[in-house]
Amino acid sequence: MLNISVTRNDHPKQKPADEGVLGFGRLFTDHMFLMDYEEGRGWHDARIVPYGCFDIDPAAMVLHYGQAIFEGMKCYRRADGGLQLFRPADNLARMSRSAKRMCMPELDEETALEGLRQLIRLDADWVPHRDGTSLYIRPTMISMDVGLGVHASKKYRFFVILSPVGAYYKEGLKPVSIYVEDEFVRAVRGGVGFTKCAGNYAASILAGDVAEKKGFSQVLWLDGVEQRYVEEVGSMNMMFAYGDRIVTPRLNGSILPGITRDSVLKLAVKLGYKAEEARLDVHEIFADAKAGRLTEAFGTGTAAVISPVGVLAMKDEKVTLGDGGIGPIAQRLYDTLTGIQYGRLPDEFGWILPL
Ligand SMILES: *Cc1c(COP(=O)(O)O)cnc(C)c1O
Repeated sequence: MLNISVTRNDHPKQKPADEGVLGFGRLFTDHMFLMDYEEGRGWHDARIVPYGCFDIDPAAMVLHYGQAIFEGMKCYRRADGGLQLFRPADNLARMSRSAKRMCMPELDEETALEGLRQLIRLDADWVPHRDGTSLYIRPTMISMDVGLGVHASKKYRFFVILSPVGAYYKEGLKPVSIYVEDEFVRAVRGGVGFTKCAGNYAASILAGDVAEKKGFSQVLWLDGVEQRYVEEVGSMNMMFAYGDRIVTPRLNGSILPGITRDSVLKLAVKLGYKAEEARLDVHEIFADAKAGRLTEAFGTGTAAVISPVGVLAMKDEKVTLGDGGIGPIAQRLYDTLTGIQYGRLPDEFGWILPL
């Protein structure tokens, strides 16, 4: 593991007075963690420094060819004031998998984890206290070679920034309406759908914008070849419940393997549900919903944890799931998973890493 140097910020910012209006990713803490990579030298110069702008050459490769990957996880404050992370090593391992596909260097995961733990300890007062709030952690890696020739960069930067974020649900779980995207696709077989790369988001913004203007909060992506099989929703994986059976699309290379998805699959079994991975035909989903066989649908992801789907729309068709409200499975999974994350419930899976 690399040695991590620390330069303290002599001009700390004012912390937000009202934790009720934090929003998402608008405020950043006083410090950040950085380390650099160079071919032949490996990762080096692990350091915590005051939060601030990078000096970046306009010909840096990331700005032109988009080698950029990131992660998203949270630090939670327990009722006793202590802080804890949820499966952080899994996020860093996923980042290394993203890196490999993007022809970027695998992370020094040990130094990255130690760096982000030290960073959070230093900025611990920024972890909000109010119910449902947390400190969002954003590890990122970008290519730093200067020049416009297309090749794998020899220099990279890894950094971690922290942002106090408000409660995703201020008044309990809230169902969303989702538009099934039938024109654009997010990812294809053999592509980069399974990576958390910036380009996947760039490619999805237009569809999200169009859906929002139609009054939907997110887009449900279908497979990029037949545009028929369910992949995922916005930045969430998708799950469907048939009575006590929970089904989610099988990981196929174009779906992002969510940590929340994996956690829900394991937790569901523990709670007595059946959990399955399968290929899900969107037309069957609609037929099952209309016939009342499909009783619930919900998204899973770090931001919302569980997001119940009230309405699914595709072209001119619209179906209501269950009674359009919050299903009992979604509610139970949400309560149990957030209970573990905030330390209200015991962690039987070894998912929690106290700071
Ligand atoms: C991050 C992400 C998810 C959810 O992953 P979690 O690890 O559960 O937060 C799902 N889909 C996409 C496209 C994502 O980028």
